[in-house]
Amino acid sequence: MHAQIKELYPLCRSITGNGVRQSLQILKRSIPLEIREVPTGTQVFDWTVPKEWNITDAYIKNAHGERIVDFKRLNLHVMSYSIPVKRKMSLAELRPHLFSLPEQPDWVPHKTSYYKENWGFSLSHRQLQSMEEGEYDVCIDSSLTDGSLTYGEYVLPGTSQDEVLISTHTCHPSLCNDNLSGIAVSTALAQALADRSRRYTYRFLFIPTQIGSMTWLALHEHVVPKIKHGLVLVGLGDSGSMTYKRSRQGQAEIDRAAIQVLKDSGHPYKVVDFFPFGYDERQYCSPGFDLPVGSLMRTPHGQFPEYHTSADNLEFVKPAALEDSFHKSLSLIEVLERNKTYVNQNPKCEPRLGPRGLYRTTGGHTGSGQIKEMPILWALNLSDGVHSLLDIAERSNLPFAEIAQAAESLEACGLLREK
Ligand code: ZN
Repeated sequence: MHAQIKELYPLCRSITGNGVRQSLQILKRSIPLEIREVPTGTQVFDWTVPKEWNITDAYIKNAHGERIVDFKRLNLHVMSYSIPVKRKMSLAELRPHLFSLPEQPDWVPHKTSYYKENWGFSLSHRQLQSMEEGEYDVCIDSSLTDGSLTYGEYVLPGTSQDEVLISTHTCHPSLCNDNLSGIAVSTALAQALADRSRRYTYRFLFIPTQIGSMTWLALHEHVVPKIKHGLVLVGLGDSGSMTYKRSRQGQAEIDRAAIQVLKDSGHPYKVVDFFPFGYDERQYCSPGFDLPVGSLMRTPHGQFPEYHTSADNLEFVKPAALEDSFHKSLSLIEVLERNKTYVNQNPKCEPRLGPRGLYRTTGGHTGSGQIKEMPILWALNLSDGVHSLLDIAERSNLPFAEIAQAAESLEACGLLREK
């Protein structure tokens, strides 16, 4: 995952344009995703697919002809969606178009102006302060033209038509945690699921944030009723602990499954309620859709100083954090896959477990590999055709995996039957 982030890092992504196309082409080597193009001007609810933005070069040259700010060195130097500029100007004229972070004087901020025509450069505050009066040669070699919005989609069919939506955004340039970590974890998850038998159908979306989910929803209203669970994956590579943001519904199965996985991990975690800000959960959880879509992340956006700056770089995202995020995401999917409701076939008093090989025959410690007693008893007691395995895990305060393993063993010997 970190190697993939490293390959994607230099590309200049935005909400449209060739940087997104190139990024999706790189992902296509790992998963056979479909690359879709939606033309500029397409109406998507209250919004319109914008003009396509592309950029080949940009710089500010000083009086000696030296590139003191150079897009080719770091694409964050140019405000995303900057209109073309090519002329000489004084520092006073240039100054309103320069952005820096006085509180982090060595970092370059990430700036955008998608829906208002503007142009600008970002630079470190230290560099801004060192700029002298005089004439500067300013160039942004960009284009804003009728083109399309590009997104990637990969559907892995399951035995059921019911779908799990995994959505991640692809519109940030050289930023690693906010953007590339979600892309890398989603891609690894898609690869892992491709090799497994699946109850659910999985739909992976790689989209520009907000306008991308609006566009996808506008063009796929017929698919929406099939979505039973969904997850927005963002910010999964920093060293912070995990955070889960609930769906608007708040108590959906995805919400409960995510919290169960985080609890079972034994690691610290936080749960936050839904709020109508953040990433694409804003659109999936808009009242007209109200989909059960939560968001899994590590440190929430805006709560780490590196957020939307050049310090969100290849050193900021850690392979171990990516791996941990991947395993937790996969565990969450395993809970969804295994969360079934069973009916006890011997409900009048407890059945005899010993003859069925389900009970330890000698007292004392239950070693690994042996079936544990309490999950068996809980699964038998609460499998009344009403309680799901997730209900049983929550009520028993036992790990979901133990309850699921017990239920699957009980089903194998005929004591439980799936409802
Ligand atoms: Zn962002």
